[in-house]
Amino acid sequence: MTHSVRSEYATRYSIQERWQAVSLETLVAAGPPRTRKGPGCSVGIALASLPDSESIALTAMLASNPTLDGGWKNVDISEAIKGSGIRIKGETIARHRRGGCSCESR
Ligand SMILES: [Zn+2]
Repeated sequence: MTHSVRSEYATRYSIQERWQAVSLETLVAAGPPRTRKGPGCSVGIALASLPDSESIALTAMLASNPTLDGGWKNVDISEAIKGSGIRIKGETIARHRRGGCSCESR
């Protein structure tokens, strides 16, 4: 739902009417919303634009596990890629690692 559609929706219907317009029963049958996939997030774009060897290195950093095997923390990856002139926030890296970003596949 775009912002304009959402705001129009919110102003046009009262809460009672909204529940009737889109009932929870309908929504639960349809299942939870899925993350919209499209152009990749900043991490996906970096992976696609870096030279192959650097992209492979970044992939290895992202695949490491900072809690279990002393792998790369989000903030450390963010710092590391600054050297390549790429600025991505730790939160963005975390979202990409969780699969909650807009990348089609990782
Ligand atoms: Zn991503």
